[in-house]
Amino acid sequence: MPRRKLKIGLVDADLLCNGTRHPNLVLMKLAGFFNDNGIDFKLIIDQDEDIKPYKYIYISRVFTFTQEPTFYKNASPYQKKHKFRKGGTGFYANELNINKYRYKREKDMNQLENDEFLNSYTNHCGGSRTNGIDLARQMPYYHLYDEFVDLKVREGFKRDKYKDYQQYSIGFLTRGCIRHCPFCINKLEDRIFPYSKLEWFLDEERDEHGRLVRPYIYLWDDNFLAADPEVWRTCLQQLIDTGRPFQFRQGLDERMLAESPCGEEMAEMLSRVHYHGDFIFAFDNWKDRPKIEKALKIWKLYNPKKGTKFYLFCGFKQSEDNREKFYKDIWEIFQRIKVLMTYGCVGYIMRHEDYHNAPISNIYIQIARWCNQQAFYKKMSFWEYIYRNQTYWEQKAGFEVLKELKSFEEFQQDYETGYYEREDERGKIRKICKPLQTVLDVLEMFPESRKELIEMFNFKLLNLINPTLWNH
Ligand code: SF4
Repeated sequence: MPRRKLKIGLVDADLLCNGTRHPNLVLMKLAGFFNDNGIDFKLIIDQDEDIKPYKYIYISRVFTFTQEPTFYKNASPYQKKHKFRKGGTGFYANELNINKYRYKREKDMNQLENDEFLNSYTNHCGGSRTNGIDLARQMPYYHLYDEFVDLKVREGFKRDKYKDYQQYSIGFLTRGCIRHCPFCINKLEDRIFPYSKLEWFLDEERDEHGRLVRPYIYLWDDNFLAADPEVWRTCLQQLIDTGRPFQFRQGLDERMLAESPCGEEMAEMLSRVHYHGDFIFAFDNWKDRPKIEKALKIWKLYNPKKGTKFYLFCGFKQSEDNREKFYKDIWEIFQRIKVLMTYGCVGYIMRHEDYHNAPISNIYIQIARWCNQQAFYKKMSFWEYIYRNQTYWEQKAGFEVLKELKSFEEFQQDYETGYYEREDERGKIRKICKPLQTVLDVLEMFPESRKELIEMFNFKLLNLINPTLWNH
């Protein structure tokens, strides 16, 4: 008996909520599975989509702050129960009860492979399963986002803005971690295991000139370097052998260079790869400083000229009334930046959503705006960046600016003598812009640490970089 014509909806809830520029790998794999089985499917990109024609709609959500789509909110309880299937870290990542978290994560991680509907179709990707989706083996359907990208181009956006949806083969070579970071979705993982083989997700499509349509590879591995040496060594060699530029989007664990007996081999092998963009590591905890410094010496010895970036996690468990915790967090951000600057590396602020609860949350926004834009970070201190904002504001408001960049001491002197409250010839008063006001608020909150804060705000890569630390 031929099956009735089916239509399946796929929903990238983060995309619909404008919260991401990353294609959703699970949805691409689901699309690959439906494509293999000749099932009609569509990426839904309209909040008001008519859901009647769809037999099932799979909603995936990565971020907990992502809103559910309008068509889901408006669906009847019956439809919600029978038509929709929901999954992804965005549905449980902020669960604080550890047992509930474990239950929800396990359920989520297994739900597609246990899905009755999917299990009524053939697995075309090999392995031990005859039916249903094998998520590790399933080849993603790389055209899933084409209609969305075309729509954006018609709306006037540059196609290049959406290259993540179009130019990369995407997958996990390994999964899992051993670090148990409390803020991470992998906090309960104890091991790293091989996941997909490269050929299971490496795209070979070529255009009419014989060029690869997707010439790059990006990898979502959680902690690739902490895998068994045989695993990372083999995978790295396979990546090198493709000749394609690749990158680990979640960063690599720099500490492994210091902890592993193969640390030097890692640094040497990575020095030979065709890496796409900056190498990204993580320096999430200040207590890791000795390990990070040891690893940096090894890294820079083999990779003295490679762009190297470190994610700097911050803002976790901030609360309005915990002044000490707030100061410690700000202090640790700048001290980590100082270490990175001495080794000529750049930082990238990654804020946990708890930063919103900090006593002066805007300081995180200002630090991120400075640190995450390399043109600022490499050339100016945080203070200089902040004062440039003030100058920019004054010039835009039509004030005469005699000195575009003031040291903190010069600013302070002008501030105390009423320079920013004086009327100009138009009768207008110069005011303090929001970034500068935020810095002043932080200084006012911690009078006992004022000197230390000003010193940290003046950390500057050009002054701190010290090649003698690794040139030996
Ligand atoms: S090292 Fe990275 S992947 Fe591992 S638990 Fe920590 S944040 Fe998560």
